[in-house]
Amino acid sequence: MQKVLIVEDSRTTARFMAHNLKEQLGLAYDCAENLGEARQLLQADASQYFLALCDLNLPDAPNGEVVPEILANNIPVVVVSAHFDEGIYKRLMLQGVTDYIVKRTPDDMMYLMRVVRRLRANSGVEALIVDDSNLWCMQVSELLRRQRITAYTASNGLEALQLLKDHPAIRIVLADHYMPGMDGMALTAAIRKSHTMDELSIIVISVGTESGARFLRSGANDYVFKTASFEELLCRISMNLDIQDLIRNNRALAERDALTSLLVRRQFFALAQEAVTEARKDRRNLCAAMIDVDYFKQVNDRYGHLAGDIALRQLGAMLREEFPAPFICGRYGGEEFCLVAPGVEKQEFARKLENFRSSVSSKPVQIGALSIVISVSIGMAEQRASDLETLINAADGQLYTAKREGRDRFVWQP
Ligand code: GH3
Ligand code: MG
Ligand code: MG
Repeated sequence: MQKVLIVEDSRTTARFMAHNLKEQLGLAYDCAENLGEARQLLQADASQYFLALCDLNLPDAPNGEVVPEILANNIPVVVVSAHFDEGIYKRLMLQGVTDYIVKRTPDDMMYLMRVVRRLRANSGVEALIVDDSNLWCMQVSELLRRQRITAYTASNGLEALQLLKDHPAIRIVLADHYMPGMDGMALTAAIRKSHTMDELSIIVISVGTESGARFLRSGANDYVFKTASFEELLCRISMNLDIQDLIRNNRALAERDALTSLLVRRQFFALAQEAVTEARKDRRNLCAAMIDVDYFKQVNDRYGHLAGDIALRQLGAMLREEFPAPFICGRYGGEEFCLVAPGVEKQEFARKLENFRSSVSSKPVQIGALSIVISVSIGMAEQRASDLETLINAADGQLYTAKREGRDRFVWQP
């Protein structure tokens, strides 16, 4: 469901939008030049579109007749028009369109692409509206629904805190300041005890007689006056989600090694340390393994560094496939990998490691016409609630034995 439906009779404009969707956002699209064609595409498979970009003036539908037909298929509509008309804007908003964008300059196209990017990213985003006014909750829920955001509503602070517990995926809270019982500022402070500013955005909505600094100081990411337009509220919501996405993406990039997509050493140690702490709490044993590629220097020397990289990338993919969560798998250094197996029984882990060893040596790395056979040595250790360093050192000791005994082998103590 990741396609955009473009309904536009000017081929130049349609092509321009299509080009930007593809080049800037990597999005697929279908084009309809009139209402008839749009109907055909919708009948064929309406569920493939997550969004429609619509012109209002089509040869067979000169007054925006296409808009309700698309909305009836539960597809959000962004109207893209050559001119702005307040009356039309109001009518469209009542009909339920998501946005009305005027295209005059290249900047307008840039803005349109930002709107589309946000709409695509909004799938799965959950929000919480906290307000003692039922009408406000309903209006803002509808506004968010058109942005593909799922909204929960609470009429007071305590209810809001409970909803946050029940729905950990909520990423943004819109909190009224003036509420009976806990006010917006107190609610913000309470939320901040368990949710940081970069994982959960709070926008306080106030009547505008007080200084916004108070809200920001209590931990809000932003504030809006209730007298502001819904348009402004939406802009702030989108901006907060954009910033969250940036932080998330950067964090995800920093956590993973670029070549193998496995955890970098620092992240591996952070997660492995948590696993050790958990195991110690539950008085459970914990297993770890060290994996090292055999004679890897020779691979580089013989076939070149690039070939070595391809081999490491393949190993990374195999490790991710064979050892998904709860396994914690990191690139320990160069051609060495480390695994921790929380909650996995020793025999089971050993069986998987032996399988992995044999599949590496039976799956040569293909580099063009070249087929390079590589192998790995693996050491595994199990310890009862000790510390991480001791556990990894023990696994490393077994790896050393595997190397000494001839490589391409798995060593552990059953
Ligand atoms: P052993 O069986 O004893 O482990 O022999 P080895 O050659 O694998 O061990 P050694 O530690 O001598 O060499 C490791 C090599 O791994 C040297 C280094 O150039 C190579 N290496 C480390 N990181 C990378 C990388 O990211 N890409 C490539 N292509 N090579 C790497
Ligand atoms: Mg090696
Ligand atoms: Mg090594």
